[in-house]
Amino acid sequence: TDFAQLETQHGVSSVLVQNLRSQGYTEPTPIQMQCWPLMLGGRELLASAPTGSGKTAAFLLPIIHQLGRPRALGFRAVIVAPTRELADQTFRECEFLARGTGLKVHVIDKVDKIAKKFGPKSSQKFDILVTTPNRLVYMINSDEPLIKLDNVEWLIMDECDHLFEGGRRGFREQLAQIYQACAGPKLQRGLFSATHSAPLQQWCLDNLNCVALLNV
Ligand code: AMP
Repeated sequence: TDFAQLETQHGVSSVLVQNLRSQGYTEPTPIQMQCWPLMLGGRELLASAPTGSGKTAAFLLPIIHQLGRPRALGFRAVIVAPTRELADQTFRECEFLARGTGLKVHVIDKVDKIAKKFGPKSSQKFDILVTTPNRLVYMINSDEPLIKLDNVEWLIMDECDHLFEGGRRGFREQLAQIYQACAGPKLQRGLFSATHSAPLQQWCLDNLNCVALLNV
């Protein structure tokens, strides 16, 4: 399989295929091959794959494909990364993969800039949000509505093994708040991690719907 086949077999926009080519991606990695049909087939998932396996594009590609065109509905995809650095990296990958589609990507910046940039009206202009959990929860809990999340169709937690580690005890509560805030009628969730762990798997079995477990 190469990415050109996506275009003929799955009706992937040629813009997306072109973006992949321009980045030197010619064929999908194993995690990318497995995520594509699951995510587009409506499954929620826990996917474990090592760093460097192309995990980021594995969730970005089906999301960008499914979002299609910008629709001025506010964020339809939210990607949560444990650190600012990873959020920035994911943001950059998302920007180049979405180039030419018209989809607008935003990465949450420092808290003091948030209020200016957002507000329910300005978040309408964006389609995809990349954020750390702390920043998103701050926006959700603020007295004034800072962000509109009622049209979110995709919620991705990247490097969720870090998020579940002992040092981040508050994360499960944050996760619950994020899920609650994003609870649109057709929300689909995906958790991605570099390592596989029993507690994480159990959490997914207990909390996700129609969950697929991938260990690549
Ligand atoms: P990740 O595992 O998401 O951190 O990706 C590791 C590296 O592989 C990144 O530098 C990506 O840009 C690159 N990459 C992702 N998918 C592909 C692909 N299908 N072909 C070649 N490189 C890729």
